[in-house]
Amino acid sequence: MFNKKIGVLGGGQLGKMTALAAQNWDVPLCFLDKSLDMPSAKVCPDFTIGDFQDYDDVYNFGKQCDIITIEIESVNTAALRDLVAEGKIVHPAPEMLEVIQDKGLQKEFYLQHDLASSPFILLENKKEIIDKINQKEISFPFVQKARKGGYDGKGVAVIKNENDLDKLMDTPSVIEDLVDIHKELAVIVAQNERGETAVYSTVEMVFSEEANLVEYLLSPARISQAQEDEAKDLAMQCIQKMNLCGILAVEMFLTNKGDILINEVAPRPHNSGHHTIDACITSQYEQLIRAISNAPLGSTKSTTNAIMLNLLGEPNYKGFPLYYGLSECIKIEGVKVHIYGKEETKPYRKMGHVTIIDDDKERIIEKAKFVKETLKVIV
Ligand code: ADP
Repeated sequence: MFNKKIGVLGGGQLGKMTALAAQNWDVPLCFLDKSLDMPSAKVCPDFTIGDFQDYDDVYNFGKQCDIITIEIESVNTAALRDLVAEGKIVHPAPEMLEVIQDKGLQKEFYLQHDLASSPFILLENKKEIIDKINQKEISFPFVQKARKGGYDGKGVAVIKNENDLDKLMDTPSVIEDLVDIHKELAVIVAQNERGETAVYSTVEMVFSEEANLVEYLLSPARISQAQEDEAKDLAMQCIQKMNLCGILAVEMFLTNKGDILINEVAPRPHNSGHHTIDACITSQYEQLIRAISNAPLGSTKSTTNAIMLNLLGEPNYKGFPLYYGLSECIKIEGVKVHIYGKEETKPYRKMGHVTIIDDDKERIIEKAKFVKETLKVIV
């Protein structure tokens, strides 16, 4: 076990944290991404420079691996399909990855498989959207999502009324009802090749409107036991119906009426699982290695409460990063700082994260507030 060479498409921070987990078992790991400045290259010498969206680069990289996985979704799936045909193990399966890459196909999958998600229609371009509004087939407010290529809120437009129509994107889109959101939740679930599954506790994500990114994340989520069970069950059904091997992060909305709806999924380690490194028996990164190596899955139990803060580049700074306030923060018990090692900070760029762990639910909030005010990425 753990002697098969794992190739990871993408060499960002999620890859770096996967490599750190893999090192405990001396798993041979290699990466494909465009530059040696990427975070994964700092911890893994077997790094191929190339483009994970390019057929030849992915195919040639995959040929020298036994198992291929991803840390970003937007990879070349035609090459992955050919690698599968030649006997390589590829997780997540390229066919399912293609469904997930396209938000329209993703929504259709939920509908066809009876997985709760908000009502939607698919339209080709801006003109079709305007026509449907004029024909009263779409009513305000609604959300437009580009079917392909969006991330971190880019490719999502909230159209509240006619004044927002200039925000419409001219691209194939999912048009969804605007959900009356009480809380945004996420559940990470894992499945190995034998079909064994393991699910983490639900986390609550609080978004920053300014940066359009998760501002902080709470574990456990402040929801009822019934809601916790429902969210976990939905995530479990999702990975089983998608028949995925590896890790699946399921982002959900808890509505003001109390319904739980799937927003979208990511078939890879996810921002909402960073806290599992410091606050769970098995991290999501270790779990990914276990799942795709068809090893027994690890315990997903939380060991304590956690708050995760993304460490974002300060708005007015660009250049080689400095982590101001670091020593004051790491003095505090349970403040675990993870710096990704990116060469350049930019406004709101994800430069690292901090997980704060504490058994006391009030003290942990005080510590998180202190870290948020104190630790800044500047140049
Ligand atoms: P991305 O893939 O860029 O992360 P998401 O689909 O997660 O895009 O949308 C980004 C954010 O936009 C969500 O976290 C949520 O706050 C908001 N959002 C997305 N869809 C809806 C919706 N149907 N109703 C209300 N808000 C939404």
